[in-house]
Amino acid sequence: MHEYSTAVGVIETITAVAKEHNATRIKKVELVVGDFSMLNTEQLKFAFEIAAEGTLAEKADLIIEAQKGEIDCKDCGYKGSVDAKKKDVDHFVVDLVNIFECPKCKSNNTKISGGRDIYVKNIEVELGTK
Ligand SMILES: [Zn+2]
Repeated sequence: MHEYSTAVGVIETITAVAKEHNATRIKKVELVVGDFSMLNTEQLKFAFEIAAEGTLAEKADLIIEAQKGEIDCKDCGYKGSVDAKKKDVDHFVVDLVNIFECPKCKSNNTKISGGRDIYVKNIEVELGTK
């Protein structure tokens, strides 16, 4: 389950940061998830809840911000966003074929250039008293 291992990775990252700052609890996590990251955000939220149990991130609010997918068109040179959600395709073929039509010239000769990332944008913590 891709979502679960991603959630575990995110929690490892944020708990390490939180510990560095002597935080006692992580209250909120803002995560940016690219449209082409092949992650299901509902499943990711669920996986996060489970993986966070017993860590500083337990019961933290997970805010997921979607990042638009971007393509480069090899025919007309268009670079920009496409709406990945518009295409009713299996997420897992995204990397293998050029399924995204250029919004400018309608060519399928496109390459994914952005929106595959997943990163932590911000966390909110509760600080312990020293
Ligand atoms: Zn084009």
